[in-house]
Amino acid sequence: MSTHWKVLLWMVAGLLVGLVMQFTLEAEAWSGITVVDGAAGVELASVSGPGAKGAFGQGRPIAKGDVLRAVILHRGAEDEELVELSRAADFEAAVARSVNGEVIWLVEASDTDVARPAAVALQMNPSSQRATWVAPFAFVADIFLALLKMLIVPLVLSSIVTGVASVGSMGSLRRLGGKTFFYYMATSLLAILVGQVLVNVIRPGDGAVLGLSALAERGAGTEESFIDVLKRAVPENIFKALQDNGAMLSIIFFALLFGYFITQTKEPHGTRVKDVFEAFFEVMMKMATGVLSLLPYGVFALIVKVVATTGFAPFKSLLLYMGTVTLALVIHFCITLPLVLRLVGRISPIKWFKAMSPAILTAFSTSSSSMTLPVTMKTVEHRGRVSNKVTSFTLPLGATINMDGTALYECIGVIFLAQYYASTGGYELTLGDQGLVVVLALLASVGAAGIPSAGLVMMLTILSALKLPVEGAALLLAVDRPLDMMRTMVNVWSDTCGAAVIARTEGEEGPLEPVFDA
Ligand code: ASP
Repeated sequence: MSTHWKVLLWMVAGLLVGLVMQFTLEAEAWSGITVVDGAAGVELASVSGPGAKGAFGQGRPIAKGDVLRAVILHRGAEDEELVELSRAADFEAAVARSVNGEVIWLVEASDTDVARPAAVALQMNPSSQRATWVAPFAFVADIFLALLKMLIVPLVLSSIVTGVASVGSMGSLRRLGGKTFFYYMATSLLAILVGQVLVNVIRPGDGAVLGLSALAERGAGTEESFIDVLKRAVPENIFKALQDNGAMLSIIFFALLFGYFITQTKEPHGTRVKDVFEAFFEVMMKMATGVLSLLPYGVFALIVKVVATTGFAPFKSLLLYMGTVTLALVIHFCITLPLVLRLVGRISPIKWFKAMSPAILTAFSTSSSSMTLPVTMKTVEHRGRVSNKVTSFTLPLGATINMDGTALYECIGVIFLAQYYASTGGYELTLGDQGLVVVLALLASVGAAGIPSAGLVMMLTILSALKLPVEGAALLLAVDRPLDMMRTMVNVWSDTCGAAVIARTEGEEGPLEPVFDA
């Protein structure tokens, strides 16, 4: 059975198992906070579990002895209810009216205008029956995510070094290389901008119920300006950066330079180092494929965990997120790229699409640009009548560094999660952060390997770079497969359009009249 069907099947199985657990095993919502009636009012007696992450206003963690005036039940951006507390029992009653995954805000007695509440995401009581049953699934899901995270640094480092070193060392093809690189980056940027506009207009993350723990920090996230971030991108010590998934920007910066300077080093040294990195990259790709073959089971465990803990609510929110990604992909596929084809390449998009259909369908059914590459090359050369010189140069490069669908998806995924955290009182993206997301999404799409779910692995790095918890990506992973199929289609479509446009700018007439029977 193809991995596709396997993933989808295990997704459904996870859903069913999760639902059965949800309905048959008891588990009350739990804040990890206990209160008592003190002299000054309702007083915090102990804080543990999810409550321990809550913090008031300027980041002061909630602590024993704090006096509470009220609690706000926060079920979404538009659904909030303020419950004044006069006795400790009021607090228990308020929590009992919420469900797992919802957020409550605690208001201090001194905070008269509710300016600095502390957010606490309710979780399942760990001593409940259901929590005991969910634990093994959570364990598998955690191991799977750890395996994915383990791949990030070596995969990104080797893929970028190898990619840049091969573009740079093409000698006579340098002009073609520059042009191709420019096209790839420009279309990916266009894709990201479409994604960014849509996710900021639709705002799928506002008031989403995802059941992730609220963030301790409040207000603006990194509080770094764009310039600060650029400064941070230059690592003072690359070996230190390599130890930190959150230092991805530095690792990418170093990899770009390293790849370039490999081409500038005299022989045989440059080639030797390049060969080592190439071999390393091949091994990492094999390893990634191995880890990803566990995807169906990882997804199963994740879905059981999410559904058993929070029920269907996260899926409703995720549906809007998926809709946003899909819409952006459709716009890029049907409007942006055809316009580029028509205006820059003077090629009929409809004819080109018809000619490219085998490659696009293969991309859809494999979720892998790399696996599709042989079909893409054959299709563009034979059905699209682009010269071998152009296809053999642009397409292999495109399959690894040109991923418009992935780029746009990274941007939407990250901003979606940030919106969720903002609406639960945590993290707000500053303008600098939004700019950073664009740059990181672009780099992530360059660094992502052309294999299924690679885009999601890269998203972990963006989240870490923004200091957002990667826990959110686990949730997105649960519904990643259908999106992966679509974004891979967009990735490959953009590669073929790139080959056609580059061929036209090289004066080739072939792509104007594609043939269909080859
Ligand atoms: N599966 C995609 C590709 O191969 C990469 C991704 O996960 O976004 O193009």
